[in-house]
Amino acid sequence: MKIMQHKFVEYIPEDIEQGTLYISMQYATAVHKCSCGCGEEVVTPFSPTDWKLLFDGDSISLNPSIGNWGFACKSHYFIKNSQVIWCKQWSNQQIACGKKHDLKNKSDYYTSNSATESPKLLKKFWSKVITFFKE
Ligand SMILES: [Zn+2]
Repeated sequence: MKIMQHKFVEYIPEDIEQGTLYISMQYATAVHKCSCGCGEEVVTPFSPTDWKLLFDGDSISLNPSIGNWGFACKSHYFIKNSQVIWCKQWSNQQIACGKKHDLKNKSDYYTSNSATESPKLLKKFWSKVITFFKE
C-alpha cells in the first residue's frame, strides 16, 4: 500500500515531491504527482462539485477518486487515510469508482450554465459518465 504524505502550504512549490500531496487552503487546491510514478502533476481543486479534502488531524482523504484520464497512464485511485487505493482503469463504459450522489451533483451542475468555468476534460469525462449511467 502506497502512503501519500501531505504538506499544508500557502503556495504550491515548483518542485513537488512524488508521494506528497501539497495542500493550499488559501487557494482551495491540492497538487501531487501521479501515484503511478509517471511524473505527471495532478491538480485537484476543492469545490462543491470537485474534490473534497478530509483531514482528521493525522491523515488526509480526497473524494471523489482521482482519474487521470488525460495522462498516458490513465491511472485511477483514491487517496484515503493517506493511503493510495488503486481502482480499475476506466475502459469501455466501465466505471469502477463512480458514486451516484457525486454523479447527481455533476449532473445538476453540468446541465446548468455555470459549467463553462470547469476544465474541459473533466467536463467531457463527466458527461460521458452521466450518459453511461442514464442508459
Ligand atoms: Zn501516472
